[in-house]
Amino acid sequence: MDQVEGSASTNKYIPVSSVTSGEGIELAPDIYSFTNQIVNLCFIGNPENDQGWVLVDAGMPDSAEKIIHEAEDRFGKGTRPKAIILTHAHFDHIGGIIGLLNKWEVPVYAHRFELPYVTGEKDYPKPDSSVEGGMVAKMSFLFPHESINLDQRVTALPEDGSIPEMPGWRWVHTPGHTEGHIALFRDSDRALIAGDAFITVKQEDLYSVITQELEISGPPRYFTPDWMTAWKSVKTLEALHPLLAVTGHGRPVKGEWLSENLAKLARDFEEIAIPDYGKYVDGQNPEQ
Ligand SMILES: [Zn+2]
Ligand SMILES: [Zn+2]
Repeated sequence: MDQVEGSASTNKYIPVSSVTSGEGIELAPDIYSFTNQIVNLCFIGNPENDQGWVLVDAGMPDSAEKIIHEAEDRFGKGTRPKAIILTHAHFDHIGGIIGLLNKWEVPVYAHRFELPYVTGEKDYPKPDSSVEGGMVAKMSFLFPHESINLDQRVTALPEDGSIPEMPGWRWVHTPGHTEGHIALFRDSDRALIAGDAFITVKQEDLYSVITQELEISGPPRYFTPDWMTAWKSVKTLEALHPLLAVTGHGRPVKGEWLSENLAKLARDFEEIAIPDYGKYVDGQNPEQ
């Protein structure tokens, strides 16, 4: 179990890793989910054909080398994606992007409401380390929330819902966790890349994060400012009846487990997801 994998500067943000860190899972010939420390990113594209591939999300800070290494393992030496698509721009989803863009000159796409957070215009709200949850929530004051600046290299996703370089896929606006959060969906096999709209691990709890214990969860609490909108987004995704989901955190899920648990989350979001207390909910912290 490599709990302390990662460079010293990564460990500054979260001094743990999960049992699945460094592992990849092929969920379909053209869907590969790779766990970088505590976050998942996806390689979309079939290595058996020469139509190229797209990277969805960019991992933890300082992860560029690991991502490049994994990509070369899968697609061959010197490979580069046709584009990078961001579900949103929290530090654990864009951490490697500067390093990646130094090596790969490729376009980056995000929802237009997410652009201010990747062009240096706007910072995310500070993480709420007072929110109900476990040790990761309490440590979240360490997590960067400041905007990075990708400048001209990032473009808004097309308004028609299509995703550049990902034929057959469409983006679905799923705000709440962030304003411009998106999920990616493919109708032909009902595959979903959910980002942090919902996840399959209790991300606030250190033990759960380390062991990657499977549990349907709402978006990470310390970073979610708008819970009613986040609930609506979960309902939107549930209505798509996905058969397969890769989430930003936690193990990928399929079939019955996914449909039952996503339906449960959409129904009981208040109990399962919304914290009892925190900066962005009405309740008071009983410890204070
Ligand atoms: Zn996030
Ligand atoms: Zn995340």
